[in-house]
Amino acid sequence: MSFQVFGLPVSRGVAIGRAVLVASSRIDVAHYFINETDVEAETERLRGARDAVALELTTLQRDLPVDAPPELSALLDVHLMLLRDETLVLATKQWIRERHYNAEWALSAQLEVLARQFDEMEDDYLRERKADLEQVVERLLRAMARGPSVSYAPAPGVPPRDFAGEDPLVLIANDIAPADMLQFKRSVFTGFVTDVGGKTSHTAIVARSMDIPAVVGAREASRIIRQDDWVVIDGDTGVVVVDPSPIVLEEYRFRQRQSGLERDRLSRLRHTQAITLDGERVEMLANIELPGDAAAAVEAGAVGVGLFRSEFLFMNRGGELPGEEEQFEAYRAAVEAMNGLPVTIRTVDIGADKPLDRMSANELRHEHALNPALGLRAIRWSLSEPGMFRQQLRAILRASAHGKVRLLLPMVAHLGEVRQAFEAIAKAKQQLDEAGKAWGNVEIGTMVEVPAAVLMLPRLLKHFDFVSVGTNDLIQYTLAIDRADEAVAHLYDPWHPAVLQLIHRAIAEAHAAGKPVSICGEMAGDTAFTDVLLAMGLRSFSMHPSRISSIKQRVLRADTRALRQHLQEVLASDDPEAVSQGLFAPRSARATPTAA
Ligand code: PEP
Ligand code: MG
Repeated sequence: MSFQVFGLPVSRGVAIGRAVLVASSRIDVAHYFINETDVEAETERLRGARDAVALELTTLQRDLPVDAPPELSALLDVHLMLLRDETLVLATKQWIRERHYNAEWALSAQLEVLARQFDEMEDDYLRERKADLEQVVERLLRAMARGPSVSYAPAPGVPPRDFAGEDPLVLIANDIAPADMLQFKRSVFTGFVTDVGGKTSHTAIVARSMDIPAVVGAREASRIIRQDDWVVIDGDTGVVVVDPSPIVLEEYRFRQRQSGLERDRLSRLRHTQAITLDGERVEMLANIELPGDAAAAVEAGAVGVGLFRSEFLFMNRGGELPGEEEQFEAYRAAVEAMNGLPVTIRTVDIGADKPLDRMSANELRHEHALNPALGLRAIRWSLSEPGMFRQQLRAILRASAHGKVRLLLPMVAHLGEVRQAFEAIAKAKQQLDEAGKAWGNVEIGTMVEVPAAVLMLPRLLKHFDFVSVGTNDLIQYTLAIDRADEAVAHLYDPWHPAVLQLIHRAIAEAHAAGKPVSICGEMAGDTAFTDVLLAMGLRSFSMHPSRISSIKQRVLRADTRALRQHLQEVLASDDPEAVSQGLFAPRSARATPTAA
């Protein structure tokens, strides 16, 4: 029966596919398609793992000390019984044979199916056996991990769609950590739904960078959607339709085709310069997470990288951080890929919803019962780890010998932080000189992400060459709304008058000091804000490469002189969104250059 689930739309477009449910704890399980010719070998891998686990369990049982409680032996009996149960193994083989899932994926897919059946059982004793089943599956996964290595991407040489079951797949999970999301960049999924998360949580940001439809904060989605259900994800409205009727499906397929056409049309603007009707040049920069994203930035027509979120190099490494050489290679790769265009590397912004390990913000909050957004993150974390910080600074300085690099410090709020950061930069330069390593001159910029930074910007700007306004955090800290928490997502409001005033003030202060200013938060890539930001005097926007053409189209249709006249009206209003739509939209809609 068809039904709908509602969440927050975070990445546009429509995805239609079969649901793949993944429990948070099993997101790191490899997901790839195998070739028809490998089905037998993959089934054999599963059989091998089952035999290995059976041996493990019988050995454990045999070696139980004589005084061990009898329940232990009974528990191992239950595990052995579950292991031999055909509903687990036969059905898992079916996922391998019919869908061409790799064995680990097939096993976790079947676990989701069975776990739900256990959840629905009336009998308490039977319901609690779910935990036993999960333990058995964990053992099987571990046994398989001892075999060939795993990855999210298709097996080498297997094109993502080269499998018998042609159905596209969408991922449904309770939560996905940003680092895991990044792994999915090369995966087979065409859309995402998560139960938790806010619009500018990093999970959502990475989904957007993949340019595939996504809905977060859909609360019960992973509980009520079943493995293999047909699902429509409407990334424009946040609606998720499960088991859609043929009519509804056709309607969404039509929209899917339309947005494909629109995308093609917009992509023709790639090499058009972003100049407003009144001749104002506007800089279109890209936000990237990994050096490999730089190619997409150039392809999309970016004239530089406005934000390289270097922290993604630091995540999910089991506590071992990337060394100077590894970082240097990564930064140099991005710099070289940009072919002489500037690359703004932000020093690591670990913390809040970007922990070093694969914990999601939600797990972090529950685990520590603290608000990590107000804790040791970004520049605070870097300054608390001076050796690590200098290592990163040296890598960035060395990369600047290979192209134009700008260094950006995140979440600056105190002048003391500025002083310490500059001392660290000076020390890193000295160390490079002593080691005889080449480095180039970098401009140094500050992010403006906390209201305090806006209020003291004239003082900060005495030290910095440029400013980048991080509206995602500026909104979070101005309105005291955790950006990763869906429970307060309705209060996360970029149109809030206080937010607009702070952004306006930051731009004006930067102009007054004669320093370049850019916005690299999600507002920069959202066409709803382009006019108001242009009216505020912003001429540099940094966003995911996939958003550049849409924003450029908006810029090409704008007349900043006319927009400026209405700015005060928007800023003074109690409902700036409504006023802005009323004032700016009709003018933007008139006949002006388009990609057509
Ligand atoms: C921001 O806060 O707007 C920003 C760009 O940084 P991040 O999203 O990585 O916190
Ligand atoms: Mg930020």
